[in-house]
Amino acid sequence: MSTVLQAHELTRHYSVSRGLFKPAATVQALNGVSFSLQAGRTLAVVGESGCGKSTLARALTLIEEPSAGSLQIAGREVAGASKAERKQLRRDVQMVFQNPYASLNPRQKVGDQLAEPLLINTDLSRAERRERVQAMMQQVGLRPEHYQRYPHMFSGGQRQRIALARAMMLQPKVLVADEPTSALDVSIQAQVLNLFMDLQEEFDTGYVFISHNLAVVRHVADDVLVMYLGRPVEMGASESLYSRPLHPYTRALLSATPAIHPDADKPRMKISGELPNPLNPPSGCAFHKRCPHADERCRAERPELRLIDARQVACHHVERIVD
Ligand code: SF4
Repeated sequence: MSTVLQAHELTRHYSVSRGLFKPAATVQALNGVSFSLQAGRTLAVVGESGCGKSTLARALTLIEEPSAGSLQIAGREVAGASKAERKQLRRDVQMVFQNPYASLNPRQKVGDQLAEPLLINTDLSRAERRERVQAMMQQVGLRPEHYQRYPHMFSGGQRQRIALARAMMLQPKVLVADEPTSALDVSIQAQVLNLFMDLQEEFDTGYVFISHNLAVVRHVADDVLVMYLGRPVEMGASESLYSRPLHPYTRALLSATPAIHPDADKPRMKISGELPNPLNPPSGCAFHKRCPHADERCRAERPELRLIDARQVACHHVERIVD
């Protein structure tokens, strides 16, 4: 299995104005995220809104430059890549957004939109492009006559199929999907997730699947990265993470999802309070204000990721908390 994506200490900070005469503040949207992704595997990135997962998606898809850290796509370093190399890197990593309508051109026929990546990036003839588009349309469950239709003539689920088809036209090494099913009816979500999985099997693509919902990613993820306020707090194999979550935040997220709560008989653990203001993050462990196990050490000292049971966890007291 080849490594298609390698992130090392990926970091993205933003400078934010606080008004006249006040120094600018820094938002640490992403802090020290490291992982590697193999071809044909899926890494789910999970956390509440504001945890940094969308910033991570933008960094992975070259929409934003990281402030620090390194990123390799299909073995090629992104930093310092020439214009031609960046063009190739952009082919290798594609993105599917939450709202497919926003990523499709309402005035262009679906067939032409699917053919566009081929027109820009390949030497295929018009007939060959059309043939490739028709084959992809069939793969995502669209009919040949849909080629001539416009995006508004489709349902939400069909539009997400079109967006996925467009992202897969160049057979990318990596697909980053940012909440790709959360705008869809529950009845449609499973179909679209299955389609993601079918295409992954066909093309051996590595997926980064971003979601706020642990239940949604359970059946697609090989590995899970849980993020809190811009930092990874737990990362490991999906099966063990779901059956025995270690970090208090992961435990609370799972506990709040009744369908997959690992200890259905035990009382639910609630996450109280809001995600802290990233302009003024708490001292020590960023989760301490919401964590039922927090003590003096948690308030003073930020926990680093450490290896526990083949998993990376950032918590001082895992051994005490988990039985
Ligand atoms: Fe809770 Fe402390 Fe662990 Fe942070 S380090 S998750 S506050 S127990």
